[in-house]
Amino acid sequence: MSDEKVVAIDGPSGSGKSTVARGVGDALGLAVLDTGAMYRAVTLAALDAGVDLTNGVAIAAIAAKVRMELEGDIYLDGRDVSAEIRTPRVTASVSTVSAHSGVRGELVARQREWVVAHDGGVVEGRDIGTVVFPAAPVKVYLEASEGERARRRQRDEVAANRSVAVDEVRNSLARRDAIDSGRAASPLRIADDAIVIDATHLSVVEIVTDIVARFRTATGPRS
Ligand code: C5P
Repeated sequence: MSDEKVVAIDGPSGSGKSTVARGVGDALGLAVLDTGAMYRAVTLAALDAGVDLTNGVAIAAIAAKVRMELEGDIYLDGRDVSAEIRTPRVTASVSTVSAHSGVRGELVARQREWVVAHDGGVVEGRDIGTVVFPAAPVKVYLEASEGERARRRQRDEVAANRSVAVDEVRNSLARRDAIDSGRAASPLRIADDAIVIDATHLSVVEIVTDIVARFRTATGPRS
């Protein structure tokens, strides 16, 4: 079973999940799946199609139909959308789109297929340990202080040549966290058997080393 080779990493926006996931994937020789990018790609497709974002049935149909390539750069129906899915236009709408249970059903099925095709993986998102791979041997809930998360996201914005005030980033994060944690379908929450890591005062190397050691302990010496 591929679930035996899954590292599930969940947590709120800006806690450093993507960087940690890449480090763990490199160390363990596992592919990495950014499930947030999938929700972002479907949001972009829905916005471009002019669909009402409260129409969960219509967006689930889009989620079922679009072609997504998820290795490194993100392609939507053959188009590189790696930068576009991170624009404020998509970020402002993604939590509305991801709250629809029909949309989640389509993407969770794709995430499970992806793990089978890759013989395991490091999978990061909001519901990976609770819903998508509840049997994963290592589940991590990565958090960081609000201030630290806002600073990280602001750095991402500057790197993408967008200048925003840290307060604006903080408000946008708080809004998204509230929707992601408060929705009925697979809300962001800590799995009962997850390890909670506070990244505020830890380096990426320290966090990666910890997760890799736990995975090796959980799965035996040959992993
Ligand atoms: O991780 P990232 O910030 O790119 O995720 C964007 C959004 O996608 C989240 O705010 C959340 O609404 C949604 N998401 C989700 N479930 C996941 C991953 C992301 O609902 N597993």
